[in-house]
Amino acid sequence: MTIESSTDVTLIADLHINGRWVAGESGDRFPVIDPASGRSIASFAIASDADCTNAIEAASAVLPSWSSTPPRVRSELLTRTFQILKAEREALAEIIVRENGKAFSDALGEADYATEFFRWFAEEAVRVAGDFRLSPSGDKHILVTHQPIGVSLLITPWNFPAAMATRKIAPALAAGCTVVLKPARETPLTAAYVVDALRRAGAPDGVVNLVTPVPTGPAIARMLHHPAVRKVSFTGSTEVGRILLREAADNVVSASMELGGNAPFIVLPGADIEAAVQGALVAKMRNGGSACTAANRFYVHSSVSAAFTKAVTAELSRFQVGPGIDRENQLGALVSVGERDKVAELVDVAVSEGATVALGGESSAEGAFYSATVLTGVQHGGTITGTEIFGPVTAIVEYDDVDEAVRMANDTIYGLIAYVYGETGQALSVARRIDAGMVAVNRAVLSDPAAPFGGMKQSGLGREGSSEGILEFLEEKYIGIEL
Ligand code: ADP
Repeated sequence: MTIESSTDVTLIADLHINGRWVAGESGDRFPVIDPASGRSIASFAIASDADCTNAIEAASAVLPSWSSTPPRVRSELLTRTFQILKAEREALAEIIVRENGKAFSDALGEADYATEFFRWFAEEAVRVAGDFRLSPSGDKHILVTHQPIGVSLLITPWNFPAAMATRKIAPALAAGCTVVLKPARETPLTAAYVVDALRRAGAPDGVVNLVTPVPTGPAIARMLHHPAVRKVSFTGSTEVGRILLREAADNVVSASMELGGNAPFIVLPGADIEAAVQGALVAKMRNGGSACTAANRFYVHSSVSAAFTKAVTAELSRFQVGPGIDRENQLGALVSVGERDKVAELVDVAVSEGATVALGGESSAEGAFYSATVLTGVQHGGTITGTEIFGPVTAIVEYDDVDEAVRMANDTIYGLIAYVYGETGQALSVARRIDAGMVAVNRAVLSDPAAPFGGMKQSGLGREGSSEGILEFLEEKYIGIEL
């Protein structure tokens, strides 16, 4: 195991193949950058094609024994992992902050959310239901059971490096699948820490593997053509999701996709403005706006828009920006200077299209920081309302007619999440008309391991968490029994 650390926490920066931490066949490494300082904090092993194949074959070799391990035993592994990560939440949060840049409070929130997937799927592992009934003609019994889908390739993004990994690993293992995890290049250290927690909890060799090929695309395409791989579960951009769906088609690999979002945040005329403002701050600023669930477009009724905008701007002007590792900071760095510059460019384009910067709009001289920003006078149909911002920018569009707000909210290829603030009856009726997999009514946080997370339209296929999450890693099997 290679350990290189500039912090108090031990960083693991190797591949995990067949139960061992290895440097990889080539010995090549890539730097992991702390976006708050721009400095390298570790150099992570690069997985060669042979390393990726070894990982798949290790997962494949242990699949028969893992899938026939009693559900209770699989459940207990997840419970032990839950306990380890719960006890080490501060360490996990620190690694998240170091490589992702987010505020420490966001990282702790993520660590807790991530850890809960192990508890939830430890509970689900022993609750997979089947069916047994008589056929309508009376000629047979219909027995419906489930079996694990097989070796699963899990590909995760950098914005929630712990939670996106655990949301896939926990249900896969609960179902009896074995996995190869490919974390984002920006945030492999968090993934390695989670994998090591599973190893320490007693995961058998080969059940959980981790590889980091560079470049990603061709290596993943090759892995999706390995005959042992039967599942790909991906969280990331819609653009990459489309590529993976095409690659998965050749071997008809089952695909679960959590893709991009473009969340509307609708403030209805009867909304409690104080609640809507507090909700807006959370829905927008959690994770510095780098979330597929982040509120992306604020549609605020003209009767309340002045009060809403004034209050949001005042609150955001007090937001403390700086390195996430300093716990008083509420807004950390974006994951990289490149991502920060994309946000800055979107703001510039919005201004050229007629928006006004009411607050912020500034990039830092050092580190990948962008100030909390409010844009007013934004027109629906412009670049910023059609793009996932992934940064701390509140873009406010004023509207007069609720039907028009619903139409604008649905005017997107995405359909992940929407937020609605208003009098309950009206808010619920608007929620029902929004084409999104998730709608938050008078609240700003929806993610919960016990609830189905997923999108409609081009935001994805399938659901994670809840009782559906484990089904993504199971195949239904029908056995007909002659009477
Ligand atoms: P984001 O930048 O929003 O996290 P991406 O879709 O670019 O979204 O990345 C999500 C994950 O997909 C990362 O692990 C990344 O390395 C991986 N990835 C990027 N390009 C490809 C590709 N062509 N094939 C497979 N995986 C990819």
